[in-house]
Amino acid sequence: MASPLTRISGKFCRHLSRPWSIFQLGLRNQSSPSAFEQSSENEAGSGPMCPPLQSYSEEETMMKEAVKKFAQEQIAPFVSEMDENNKMDERVIKGLFEQGLMGIEIDPQYGGTGSSFFASILVIEELAKVDPSVAVLCDIQNTLINRLLSKLGNEAQKEHYLTRLSTDMVGSFCLSEAESGSDAFSLKTRAEKHKDYYIINGSKMWISNAEHAGVFLVMANVDPSVGYKGITCFIVDRDTEGLHIGKKENKLGLRASSTCPLNFDNVKVPEKNILGHVGHGYKYAIGMLNEGRIGIAAQMLGLAQGCFDQAVPYTRQRIQFQKRIFDFQSMQHQIAHVATQLEAARLLTYNAARLKEAGRPFIKEACMAKYFTAEVATLTTSKSIEWMGGVGFTKDYPVEKFYRDCKIGTIYEGTTNIQLTTIAKFIDQEYDQ
Ligand SMILES: Cc1cc2nc3c(=O)[nH]c(=O)nc-3n(C[C@H](O)[C@H](O)[C@H](O)COP(=O)(O)OP(=O)(O)OC[C@H]3O[C@@H](n4cnc5c(N)ncnc54)[C@H](O)[C@@H]3O)c2cc1C
Repeated sequence: MASPLTRISGKFCRHLSRPWSIFQLGLRNQSSPSAFEQSSENEAGSGPMCPPLQSYSEEETMMKEAVKKFAQEQIAPFVSEMDENNKMDERVIKGLFEQGLMGIEIDPQYGGTGSSFFASILVIEELAKVDPSVAVLCDIQNTLINRLLSKLGNEAQKEHYLTRLSTDMVGSFCLSEAESGSDAFSLKTRAEKHKDYYIINGSKMWISNAEHAGVFLVMANVDPSVGYKGITCFIVDRDTEGLHIGKKENKLGLRASSTCPLNFDNVKVPEKNILGHVGHGYKYAIGMLNEGRIGIAAQMLGLAQGCFDQAVPYTRQRIQFQKRIFDFQSMQHQIAHVATQLEAARLLTYNAARLKEAGRPFIKEACMAKYFTAEVATLTTSKSIEWMGGVGFTKDYPVEKFYRDCKIGTIYEGTTNIQLTTIAKFIDQEYDQ
C-alpha cells in the first residue's frame, strides 16, 4: 500500500511511520493530567463519566441565579453613578453582605454561607457582568482575605474576624509597595519585634477596597537579613494608631473600587495578630494569589460576557442599508470569533477552578485562565465598541466602561508577563527527562 503523502512547501513528502519524534523531542511529563485526559479515561469505561465543565450543582445553579437577580436589581441602577463619582455606594456593599456574598466559603459556624470555591467563581462572574468594581470587592474578600483567615487563623482569630467578614466587615490584602510590584517580595515594610508586640513602619500602594476595609492583612518583613524569608502576615485593624489610609487613586477603570496607599507610622500590632507562622508570609501570599488569579479570570470573563450581552442585541436592532447590521457576514464572523474566544475563556476558568477544588495541581491552568481571559476581555470590549459605532463610544451605553475596566486584568494579581513566565516554567519542567 502506498504511504500517505503530505504537501510541504510545494513538494510531496512521505509520512514517517516510525514514531521518531518521541525519541527526538522527548516526552511531556504528564504528572498532572488535564480534565480532558481524565474524561477520556472514563470514556474507556474505567469510571463514571465526568460532567461537562459547564454543568453546575443544584446549589451552584441557585447561587448563580440569585446573584444574577441581585446584580440586576440592586447593583445595575448604581453602576454609572458609582463610576462617575469614583465611589462604591454603601447600599451595594450592604446588599453583598445581606446576600451572603462576602463570606461564600466561610463556615456557617462563623456566619458564612458555607459554599464552595467554584460557587465564588460563579458569583464573581455574575457580578462582573454588571459591575467589575463590585466583582473585585467580592473577589478579594472571598478568594484572598477569607481564605487566608480560614486556612491559617487560630480559633480566636477565626471567631473574631471571620464572623465580621461574613457579616459586615470588608478586608484588604496589602502586599504591593511603590518599589515592589511584580518583584513583590523585595518589599521594604518592616515589622520590628518588641516583647509581645511588633512595630510596623513603611508604606503600601494600590490597596483595593482600603476606603471601606475594617481589617488589613499586611505583609511586612521581620528580618530583612534573611530576605523574603522574613516576610510575615499581620492582621491590622483599621483603627490602629499610626495607620494612615491615603487619598484614593483616580483611575482609568474600576473607578468605584477604591485603591489607596497606606502608611504605617510606628503601628503597634500585638504578637497574637500574626497570621500563621513568622517568616511564612511569602508562601501564604504566593499560595493565595495562585488561587486569587482564578477569581480575576472570572471577573474578566464576566466583564467580557456582560459587554457582549450589551453589544450583540444592538447589532440585531440597528438597521443600515435596509438590513440589520448583524446580517452582514463580516459582522457575523467577528461576533462568532469573539463568542468562541469567550467560550474558551470560560472553559479555562472553570477548569482551573474545578482542578483547584478537586485538590489537583492548578497553578499553570490558573495563570493561563487569568492571562487568556484578560486578552479576551480586551478583545471583546474593543470589538463591542466598534460594533455599536458612535454610540458605543459614548457613556449612554455601558460598553465604554467595560472597555476601561478590562485593562486592569493584565496588571493586578500578577501582570500578563508574570503569568506567561510562570506558564513557561511549568512547560519547561514538563519536558524534564
Ligand atoms: C487597580 C489596582 C488594584 C490593586 N490592588 C492591589 C491590592 O489590593 N493589593 C496589593 O498588594 N496590590 C494591588 N495592586 C498592585 C498590583 O498587584 C501591581 O500593580 C502589579 O503586581 C504590578 O506591579 P507594578 O504596578 O509595580 O508594575 P511593575 O512590576 O513595575 O511592572 C511594569 C511592567 O514591567 C513588566 N515586568 C516586571 N517584571 C518583569 C519580569 N520579571 N519579566 C517580564 N516583565 C516584567 C510587567 O509585566 C509590566 O508590564 C493593585 C494594582 C492596581 C492598579
